[in-house]
Amino acid sequence: MFTTASTSLKTALRPIAVSCLALSALSACVTTPQADTSVADAAPEASFSLSNAVKYQRQSKEYPLLSAYVYKQATAALPATFENQQTPAVIVLDVDETVLDNSLYQEERESKGLGYSSESWNAWIKREEATLVPGVDKFLTTVIERGGKIALITNRDKTLDSHTWNNLLAMGLPLTPSNTCIMGRLPADKEAVDHKYIVNDKDRRRNAVKQGSPACSLTNDTASEGWNKPHNIIMQIGDNIEDFQGVTQEDAYLPAILPEVGTSLFILPNPMYGSW
Ligand SMILES: [Mg+2]
Repeated sequence: MFTTASTSLKTALRPIAVSCLALSALSACVTTPQADTSVADAAPEASFSLSNAVKYQRQSKEYPLLSAYVYKQATAALPATFENQQTPAVIVLDVDETVLDNSLYQEERESKGLGYSSESWNAWIKREEATLVPGVDKFLTTVIERGGKIALITNRDKTLDSHTWNNLLAMGLPLTPSNTCIMGRLPADKEAVDHKYIVNDKDRRRNAVKQGSPACSLTNDTASEGWNKPHNIIMQIGDNIEDFQGVTQEDAYLPAILPEVGTSLFILPNPMYGSW
């Protein structure tokens, strides 16, 4: 301990001793310690303030209340049971800002003065660190407890589906290949858009669920048997108007959509990004 203290003392006094030596020709000895120029000359790190959109999702009390409220309403609109239905019923949800909250990615990018890039986005997905949108855990658990099925149709690249699964399971959701089908986007989903029967790039996958031919990731024989039959989509939930079948941002006719909102269609807040 003494050695350390002694060394520290010597180090602390060194600038003062040098000053005295340099000034020895003069009668006075200046005892002002020298400034640490290595720190003073370093360029200050740039800091970027967060947008109101990211602050709203990350910090506000309103965002979690609003999201949880939407899921509360969606839970109230569920059938009491999904058992014994002639055509199995399925709830279709988007993933990003609908099930998973990616506001940490947005915050990290903005704090560095950077925007979205597909490379950084895919790297974020691979981290599997997204949290849950408030209220979604209870909603999905209720669907499964009542014997319902869930189709997650996401525009994350199809090759990243395993990371989506891992992230969702790490969040403690009771999802299995039998009760949940995850479908990332394939090039064919975009190519199928003909602006007549397939108006947005999730329509093809919604049709596949209805027709009994969805390309579910993480499947097995039992799960395949369960999904390879016609399904009835009874509810759609998303943060973007294009999470609803047959609708585009440009052409969505809200008076036709509104009567279904709160019954079979539910929209969540996402101030950070969208097709708008
Ligand atoms: Mg989304």
